[in-house]
Amino acid sequence: MAPPETGKVVLVGAGPGDEGLITVLGKTWLQRADVVVYDHLVNAALNRFAKPDAEIIYAGKKAGHSTLSQEEINSLIIDKARAGKTVVRLKGGDPFIFGRGGEEAEALKQAGIPFAVVPGVTSPVGVSAYAGVPLTHRGLATNVSIITGSSEKGDDLPIEWEKIATRSGTLVFLMGARKLPRIVENLVRHGKPASTPIAVVQWGATPRQKTWTGTLETILDSAQEIQPPALTIIGEVVNLKQTVDWYETQPLFGKTVAVTRAGEQSESFMEMLRERGAEPLSAPVIETHPPKDYGPLDTAIAKLESYEGIIFTSVNGVRWFMRRLHEKELDVRELKGLQISAIGPKTERAVRDLGVRVDLVPEKFVAESLLESLGKESVKGKRYLLPRAAVARELLPEEMRQLGAEVDVAPAYQTLAPDEFNPDALDRLEQGALDVVTFTSSSTVINFVDLIGADRKALLEKTVVACIGPVTAQTARDLGLNVAVVAEVYTVDGLTAALEDYFR
Ligand code: SAH
Repeated sequence: MAPPETGKVVLVGAGPGDEGLITVLGKTWLQRADVVVYDHLVNAALNRFAKPDAEIIYAGKKAGHSTLSQEEINSLIIDKARAGKTVVRLKGGDPFIFGRGGEEAEALKQAGIPFAVVPGVTSPVGVSAYAGVPLTHRGLATNVSIITGSSEKGDDLPIEWEKIATRSGTLVFLMGARKLPRIVENLVRHGKPASTPIAVVQWGATPRQKTWTGTLETILDSAQEIQPPALTIIGEVVNLKQTVDWYETQPLFGKTVAVTRAGEQSESFMEMLRERGAEPLSAPVIETHPPKDYGPLDTAIAKLESYEGIIFTSVNGVRWFMRRLHEKELDVRELKGLQISAIGPKTERAVRDLGVRVDLVPEKFVAESLLESLGKESVKGKRYLLPRAAVARELLPEEMRQLGAEVDVAPAYQTLAPDEFNPDALDRLEQGALDVVTFTSSSTVINFVDLIGADRKALLEKTVVACIGPVTAQTARDLGLNVAVVAEVYTVDGLTAALEDYFR
């Protein structure tokens, strides 16, 4: 058997904190990788972009100790590449800024392994941006130094304190969380004015970001118990934070928000929350499954041409209806001639994404409003199909029937509760560290209360209960929850806006 062709190693910078700070090229390699070897400071959520069968290896620290030595990491990536794999070596920030990327590149070169380097947003740049501190500024700083704060041990070069302390411009110290007193003391001793502004930023570019500011004289009084990762910015530019601060001042900054809607539907909501500085926690309490009985839907599909219109009440309704059509080797052409209604903009978009026009979208995103829109035309004597969840509110079909319409309700899917509530979210709830829990439908509330158990409801006292609309809110109140936020526009955008208002 011929030996496999040698693979390749790509040293990729992941950027600091916020997963969005990886480059397009870095993400592209991540999507192609057979093996991903990632570090402690890499946002591990990035690993979801890897192929489902990619091998994901953690090479960072556990409880302060490296799981793999640098030599072991070098051999690992070399061996994997020799076995023909495409290896992404994912590093926090930039691979070549205190990332030992240079050493790995040397080892790869020596082993004859092809490699490439994808630069990343280095933490001095990325974290300063999220801290609201421009590293250079006209009239304030004409240069920046990036300095390691941990170079006084081992075989690293010593820090030239006298040169650094007397230099104009901005200083950024990495890896100096525990060495802050030493750094401050050395700078002042070697001539840096004690009045020089300084900022220490911990867990930058994440919802846990925390910044201490002061001067070299005062910072040690306030900045205590700093945990890595943290970096220190020293220079006049630090004063700009007062005006330039944009991340820490967002209304949802640092709030932990549980998203209970189904996993596949939570992405865009979580993205919106993340953009506003919140930490979204995916804690789905709903899963969608095929209905127990496809009979009614299959019958309806067989006689689609007999309907006047089809009414979609949710994205799931659209997806599962189409899924059944496809299973029967049919497609959107079956919808020809049908009047199509959609409740809510997401539902409308789901239909449009099929390349199908929507004839009717009620003004408000609830069933009642559709009745108004439909009622204006005459529904009497006409037949409608309503493909939707197995259990849903009866209001719409019943009122339509009262208006003389014939309505076939066909279960296209059913929703079930998962086996357990996300243990991480439950932990936070128990510690009073869950700021918000969001409900986007009545069934999310019902399943949530079921999953956490009635005795845990009291834990919600410290948590803001936020509902997408009045119906969901009523269900929550009926179950004894104290609802603090109800969206005025019944969409996740509306819910996000309502949360911003609440915390502003
Ligand atoms: N290659 C990385 C640096 C690795 S050294 C880069 O280019 O950013 C690790 C140090 O980087 C930490 O000790 C800390 O000083 C800094 N750092 C990395 N991520 C950080 C973050 N999210 N917030 C604050 N400092 C961070």
